[in-house]
Amino acid sequence: MATAMEDQMTDPVLWGIDGYDDGFPLPSKKEICPTCHGNGTHGRNLGAYTEDDLEREFGGGHERQQFLDDWRAGMYDSACEACHGIRVIDVPDRNQMTPEIRELYDAQEQETFLDHAIARAERAAGC
Ligand SMILES: [Zn+2]
Repeated sequence: MATAMEDQMTDPVLWGIDGYDDGFPLPSKKEICPTCHGNGTHGRNLGAYTEDDLEREFGGGHERQQFLDDWRAGMYDSACEACHGIRVIDVPDRNQMTPEIRELYDAQEQETFLDHAIARAERAAGC
């Protein structure tokens, strides 16, 4: 069974629903990653830049060389840790939830991951 930490990148689910040991799948929607603002990286996304592009933007002097050094050092192209470069993340879509599910979801959101793990273990033991 996945741990709470490993659950972070999976689709949003609701815990504690009878018959859904792996979590009840919540309706979700794609949202632009708030961490990298859809860039997929924490810096500027330069994957499509060519040497010619760089020459036009920076000329052939020291500034360009410094830029290239930084780029090769990975300063600009580190993948976003939140979306792993996918640029969007799955977030629960409250508008698609039934009132009952929404209520359970809101209650779940008020708990921490650790609380979930404890509650799930207790429920599992009591079944
Ligand atoms: Zn991101």
